Amino acid sequence: MSRYEKLLEVRKLHKYYSKDVVSTKALNGISFDVLKGEYLGIMGASGSGKTTLLNCIATVIKPTSGQILLSGVDISSFDGTKLSEYRGNKIGYLFQDFALLDNLTGKENILLPLSIHNVAMVTAEKKLNEIASFLGITDVLSKLPSQMSGGQKQRVAAARCLISDPDIILADEPTGALDTKAARLLMEKLSEINQKEEHTILMVTYDPNAASFCSRILFIQDGVIFHELRRNIFEETREDFYSRILQVMAQLGGGSANVL
Ligand code: ADP
Ligand code: MG
Repeated sequence: MSRYEKLLEVRKLHKYYSKDVVSTKALNGISFDVLKGEYLGIMGASGSGKTTLLNCIATVIKPTSGQILLSGVDISSFDGTKLSEYRGNKIGYLFQDFALLDNLTGKENILLPLSIHNVAMVTAEKKLNEIASFLGITDVLSKLPSQMSGGQKQRVAAARCLISDPDIILADEPTGALDTKAARLLMEKLSEINQKEEHTILMVTYDPNAASFCSRILFIQDGVIFHELRRNIFEETREDFYSRILQVMAQLGGGSANVL
């Protein structure tokens, strides 16, 4: 597959949540393509449908209508082995609320995806130690999630997402609970995975600094795209791209506080 091939195609995706007579239109016919090796950012106000979009791509929820194609094949047609392969190997999902298992330690949480796929213990431990030391969570590996800070939980969740080396990484506000240093380390790791290994990343973020690592950013509002920024990789520094992101955020009214 060439680097510029369409990996994901989101086609007229709608998601309505209905409860009694109240219906929320979380996604309103959103369409876009994701190329292989892209680092796509998704920004938008709280409630604009960002998590719903990632949940549809991850097959955590079903869209009301529309399609998501993976290399041309509708993911709603996946079942059995194909679906578990998609969920288990193809995508890695870093959830907004971390979704760690409460009664497993940090180490057990991180190794869970590998134990499901029967990876040899020596290989698994080596990968675990590398990623834990890079993200600075070695000292919480034997702790339960209830004994960790929010930032530690978020890094354990990041390690769990990255350890199985997924082709497509879905990250929902991955720096939301992190301090500046931890956020920078995670952004460096994601960039490295994207550039060296050509993994594709979809990252929801409210943080313009994190977003400046992306190659393209979709701004969404009320479940549709209303603006797009593309970084000129050859001519534009990350700092210049950061300034353009800030300008768009300011134009949206209310500045960065409005883009959560
Ligand atoms: P974001 O991640 O951009 O903050 P979400 O995708 O979480 O937005 O939510 C989009 C809209 O859908 C919001 O109005 C939210 O209240 C609503 N919503 C999200 N999940 C549910 C749900 N499970 N049931 C009902 N409404 C929901
Ligand atoms: Mg969200």
